[in-house]
Amino acid sequence: MKSLGVIGAGVMGSGLAQDLAAHGFSVVLVDRSAEQLDRAAAEVLRYYRTGRLFGHDTEKYGDLTQRVTYTTDLADVGAAEFIIENITENWALKSEIYPRLDRICPPETVFAANTSCIPITKIAAATTRPDRVLGMHFMNPVPMKSTVEVIRGWHTSESTIATAQDLLAGLGKRGIVVNDMPGFVSNRVLMLMVNEAIFLVQDGVAGAAEVDEIFRSCFGHASGPLETADLIGLDTILYSIEGLQEFYGDSKYRPCPLLKKMVDAGLHGRKTGQGFFSYS
Ligand code: NAD
Repeated sequence: MKSLGVIGAGVMGSGLAQDLAAHGFSVVLVDRSAEQLDRAAAEVLRYYRTGRLFGHDTEKYGDLTQRVTYTTDLADVGAAEFIIENITENWALKSEIYPRLDRICPPETVFAANTSCIPITKIAAATTRPDRVLGMHFMNPVPMKSTVEVIRGWHTSESTIATAQDLLAGLGKRGIVVNDMPGFVSNRVLMLMVNEAIFLVQDGVAGAAEVDEIFRSCFGHASGPLETADLIGLDTILYSIEGLQEFYGDSKYRPCPLLKKMVDAGLHGRKTGQGFFSYS
């Protein structure tokens, strides 16, 4: 496999484009926003330059910036052998893009959804190739994370799983395969934990720094739930927890009002410079 289509150039799509290009793959990176593509191009360049500065292995395959093409035209992924979709965590948007991809790409092309919570079987049903659709839940930041949650939808074939595992091996990553349910393994647990941590702040039980410090110092977590939320994006957290509430119909997934308020106020975490913590 040489060429991939990456749809969505936000936090995940731009990280994926960097990582894929650094490992010798050619990437067509698509976003509906030219501004997001400019931002992604700047990040790919920064990643390449920083890698060179610190002598990282990002130059093994030459100048990775030359292997990423930026476009707002979805049709440009028609020649890609494998598609990884990373658009906003919103079913209305995702359900619109898969039938279009299905028309653009040859029947053998595999579609991987990098979604936080949306069921893969539901996504696959929006295509005519449900056996070639799977979930690949990459972790953030993509170039630094070695393991990916791979999700088998109802119709996903074993050869599709094997193709995805080959791709991950080419990225120096490992996939852990799980079956499809909303939120899979990781986010069915993580989103509840993050949401409850936000309730703690809302209820005045502790400040964000204290909540996180308890998880780092008492439990040995690498990062606390609120800095993790800032890294993921508070908008993505809200869409994910709302999705879980809708899919399971269970009130334990009701989003914390403070989370909603912060998203309305434009405090989306690291990507906007302000969430539970400030990033300058
Ligand atoms: P983001 O908000 O940073 O980026 C989403 C991008 O999708 C934006 O650039 C937007 O312009 C683009 N987009 C929206 N609709 C589009 C369309 N129809 N065509 C082309 N581009 C479109 O979001 P993100 O954090 O990168 O998340 C993307 C996906 O990855 C979501 O499904 C999310 O749940 C999942 N995910 C996120 C994380 C994380 O830590 N942020 C981790 C794993 C998976």
